[in-house]
Amino acid sequence: MDIVLATRNRKKVEEMKSIFGSMGMEPRLYALDDFPGCREAEEDGATFEENAAKKALQIFKCAGMTAVADDSGLEVDALKGAPGIYSARYAGEPSDDSANNRKLLDELKDVPDEERGARFVCCIAMADKDGVKTFLGYVNGRIGREPRGRNGFGYDPLFFPEGSDRTFAEIADAEKNAMSHRGRALKKLQIYLFEKKGSPSF
Ligand code: IMP
Repeated sequence: MDIVLATRNRKKVEEMKSIFGSMGMEPRLYALDDFPGCREAEEDGATFEENAAKKALQIFKCAGMTAVADDSGLEVDALKGAPGIYSARYAGEPSDDSANNRKLLDELKDVPDEERGARFVCCIAMADKDGVKTFLGYVNGRIGREPRGRNGFGYDPLFFPEGSDRTFAEIADAEKNAMSHRGRALKKLQIYLFEKKGSPSF
């Protein structure tokens, strides 16, 4: 099976490749860079699902290949779910992980430890000739008080997954992928593909 990952974020491409691999799936994976003529859709939807579906559909139509897109972000309880779908550009454009992390820490500076709950959300959308399907994954956790660790990307250095005293940026990639919002959403996609095709690897 051929799949194009509808993102230019190299970190996401690597993560998705490794998650597909760990699931025993071996689709031929392409990235948007393999289709220079295809543009990423604008993320102007009101939900993760809308954005992911829009991105996957646009690339399916342009590349003529099954397309998988993700839209993801961080929802912080004390900020009523912000930054949410605006996570990538929380501190303005162009997207800057360090600036986003600084802004988040600043917004939460007076918030006590027990109220620093948050969750990562990921919506994976797959578009093919049959239309678009979406799959949601979540991981609950809390926001720390300073960046810790060098792995991952985005808000990883601030996010302690539930039950862990290490941030996503302090744990190995495989460990993050096994519990992450993206890993969980991709697992649902895998089950869907398994049911659709009757085979775990294509
Ligand atoms: P998207 O490209 O619109 O999906 O942007 C998602 C944004 O949410 C990223 O730029 C990160 O700031 C944040 N984000 C999503 N998933 C993760 C993750 O696994 N770790 C850290 N930050 C993430």
